[in-house]
Amino acid sequence: MGIRFDGVTVAYDGNVVLDALDLTVAPGEVMALLGPSGSGKTTALRAVAGFVRPAAGRVFLGDRDVTDLPPHRRGIGMVVQQYALFPHLRVEDNVAFGLRARKTAKAEIRTRVAEALEMTGMAAYARRHPRELSGGQQQRVAIARALAVRPDVLLLDEPLSALDARLRSGMLAELARLHRELPDVTILYVTHDQVEALTLADRIAVMDRARLRACGTPRELYRAPTDAFTASFVGGANLLPVTVGTGAVVLGDAEIAVGTAGIAPGAQATLCVRPHLIGLGDGPNRITGTVSEIQWRGATHRLYVEAGGHRVMADVRELREPPALGDEVTLHFAAEDAALLPAGVSGD
Ligand code: ADP
Repeated sequence: MGIRFDGVTVAYDGNVVLDALDLTVAPGEVMALLGPSGSGKTTALRAVAGFVRPAAGRVFLGDRDVTDLPPHRRGIGMVVQQYALFPHLRVEDNVAFGLRARKTAKAEIRTRVAEALEMTGMAAYARRHPRELSGGQQQRVAIARALAVRPDVLLLDEPLSALDARLRSGMLAELARLHRELPDVTILYVTHDQVEALTLADRIAVMDRARLRACGTPRELYRAPTDAFTASFVGGANLLPVTVGTGAVVLGDAEIAVGTAGIAPGAQATLCVRPHLIGLGDGPNRITGTVSEIQWRGATHRLYVEAGGHRVMADVRELREPPALGDEVTLHFAAEDAALLPAGVSGD
């Protein structure tokens, strides 16, 4: 069952925190809502769950307009950041909670609880209390509880952000596996972490200050972003001001051969190049400048190079002999690795 936001606006005390959101999530799709803190992601999720009432617009689950339905009548599973398990209930009773509230038959509850615990790898912990579990295990129980009601729609609100980095990547793989096992469940996944969004989502909706900035597959947003906010939020980017020529752009005193379709010669524009697609040394589309900072990041060196009043970031494979601060270096990149964005879409 799909989810559709139709002009959904939410305001607190007259403050608009979600501004006329139009977004459709297809049945069985994983949609990530990605954006910085405070951009309205959780509010959008809560509008689907029924915990906030839109000031305008409608929310649909499948063909059903659920805007006026209470949360428990929407058939949704939800997992939040802080697990929210009942501390006095054993794991199996936590997982059974939603089913008991729905007055499901006892035998059916037993089957579904066992199934949900099996699916999340928690079958051996059914008799424990939440305090006897690690953070990662508690979050698995929270996911089992959400799945036990066999929801058509699963809402996940920063489900991994309370876990440490190692557990997080394990749980990411687990969530991907769960989705493969339950391909019909539609998932709306709120996160501020681009790695989670790129890893899990079929499509990403990028939120910025109450608005939807862009929506597309991870590859589209990464390879061909249409605005500077998305380019820098999804993957990190050099955003270089350039003047458009014919079939090329001018950056400082260098001419760079990129496609300029749709932008008039003489206009100002922004050239977007990913740091890892910039090489050190001579090559096509050269930028020469002075090294102002070097960060060793294990597998790579991040160089910051001041060139013609701009700072360019380059992630190059770990160098045996990195340049020194103040050295003049030449950087280059392939024209097909650069995307040209119209000026005035920076998001600032
Ligand atoms: P995100 O999930 O992207 O971090 P939220 O949707 O939680 O953002 O919040 C968006 C904005 O709405 C924030 O500025 C937040 O402070 C505000 N906000 C959220 N919930 C409430 C509330 N219950 N009352 C007042 N303001 C709220």
